[in-house]
Amino acid sequence: MAKIFCVANQKGGVGKTTTTVNLAAALSSIGQRVLMVDLDPQGNATMGSGIDKREMKLSVYDVLLESATIAEAAAWSESCRYHVLGANRELAGAEVELVDLERREKRLKQALSSVLDQYDFILIDCPPSLSMLTLNGLCSAHGVIVPMQCEYFALEGLTDLVNTIKQVHANLNPDLQIIGLLRVMFDPRITLQLQVSDQLKAHFGDKVFDAVIPRNVRLAEAPSYGLPGVVFDPAAKGSQAFVSFATEMVQRIQKM
Ligand code: ATP
Ligand code: MG
Repeated sequence: MAKIFCVANQKGGVGKTTTTVNLAAALSSIGQRVLMVDLDPQGNATMGSGIDKREMKLSVYDVLLESATIAEAAAWSESCRYHVLGANRELAGAEVELVDLERREKRLKQALSSVLDQYDFILIDCPPSLSMLTLNGLCSAHGVIVPMQCEYFALEGLTDLVNTIKQVHANLNPDLQIIGLLRVMFDPRITLQLQVSDQLKAHFGDKVFDAVIPRNVRLAEAPSYGLPGVVFDPAAKGSQAFVSFATEMVQRIQKM
């Protein structure tokens, strides 16, 4: 049975999409069956997994509006070796269209329930907001992976997300928990980053993943080739860090 994880942080540009596609590719490289769900109308995770968002006939939009199943809408990425339930601009309209529908925040959960036995991991890339789309992700998930940069105000920025997760846990999805905080774009030469990293560990303890993703130009270059860094340059430091993270995730789900 698949474990489902949202990669979420309402802050923009913190590394959610990079984390989602690289973790998906790294998990696949160590033998896990993976479905990656793009819940962001920007469609970056779709493009970054080698699927052209402009040429998709069916997407997560059709799944949320129940005009297609996941089996129909998901595409296999041959280069990345995982399935992609993609997104494009059409998804921005779902926000409004869902408002009047019943079970609007549980549409994705419902759809995923029919494919759970086909995967080990389902990873959901969330948009930088706490919107109805993100809510669909949080309602579906067993856990939230929170990528964060070790910057000043990093902890303050987490408060809204932690409160939202608490509310969803209490009202909509009793399974939901923060599985962990992932330090990304980390540069150990910057003293402040080391300090914030220590603060995170003091505050959140073992909720902070052991794996640390360094700032690495290969990870930033890979999307322009339509690939995760892990596939584009497996030997890069950033790619290797994602493989360590994937191994850690496999160990964590055994304890869940
Ligand atoms: P958004 O909120 O817009 O969805 P995001 O949280 O998904 O953004 P990304 O798109 O993953 O963030 O990353 C933002 C930028 O930082 C991208 O240009 C990406 O290539 C770059 N980036 C992410 N992680 C790293 C890293 N470890 N090293 C270097 N660059 C990185
Ligand atoms: Mg993104």
